[in-house]
Amino acid sequence: MFLSELELNQSLIHALGNSKSLLFLCEDIDVLTHKAKKLAKQINCLLVLEGAAVDSCGQCGPCQMIEKGEYPDFILVQAQAGSASIKIEDIRRLKERIYLKPFQSKKKIIIVQEAERLTVESANALLKILEEPPDDASIILLAQSISRLLPTVVSRCRQVRFPKKDFLQGNDDYQARIDLASRFFEIEDLIQADLLCEDISVLERSEIDSILLEVLSILRDILMLNLGLKEAGFRASAHIDLALRWKDVFGCDSLEYLMEALLQVREYVSKNANIKLSMDFLLKIIVREKQK
Ligand SMILES: [Zn+2]
Repeated sequence: MFLSELELNQSLIHALGNSKSLLFLCEDIDVLTHKAKKLAKQINCLLVLEGAAVDSCGQCGPCQMIEKGEYPDFILVQAQAGSASIKIEDIRRLKERIYLKPFQSKKKIIIVQEAERLTVESANALLKILEEPPDDASIILLAQSISRLLPTVVSRCRQVRFPKKDFLQGNDDYQARIDLASRFFEIEDLIQADLLCEDISVLERSEIDSILLEVLSILRDILMLNLGLKEAGFRASAHIDLALRWKDVFGCDSLEYLMEALLQVREYVSKNANIKLSMDFLLKIIVREKQK
């Protein structure tokens, strides 16, 4: 199952309610900021609070103030202008604010932007806050990768990874899934396989599973077409073009073999196996079968 942005936010709000801090990871800083703001809006949107909407509206006072970074209970911690690092003074300033009551909401949301910029000293100061955050504050760290963060800081947070291209946004989930699934068929060599592997491995396991299911379903449609059962077979109109395009490339034996391999990989993914290795295994088989 693909988690929509709304479903993900609802599960994150639940985690924040259990006073867990979050660590958002993505190579694209803009995606991180967008995700953090979207979550803050979800928590503070007047329409959501009134029960008039499930998703933040983007139009009410709190939504607009959060977007501009002006909402009093949305606190940004970042390196000061002209400084490359988040210094101990910045964390001290946060400490002064974090124990004050929120102005408008039930909870203050603290966003630590580019957490890689924390010095060791300021990371340790932040760690003390992460160990015992006040009940009315939620902390979200944003970083491009965990490699430059203190392991002790990382261990205090629930990690949430976002893909570089924010293709899960909005109502384009289905098209995004088809696009990604069709890339499985387009790879011609191991370099392209590696690129696809990179793009897939940043996704959540549940998202990877739904893409694998889509690929499986396309394989099944190609097989149907090859067996002359095309009228009955297609599960989605988006598959027709793909099936027509790939039916001459893969023979029935190849298709059956690939479907088996794919089921195997779905099992690996569900059992917490290493995503890159699992994908690598599958993509190499696809490349090999195409070259037959
Ligand atoms: Zn709103």
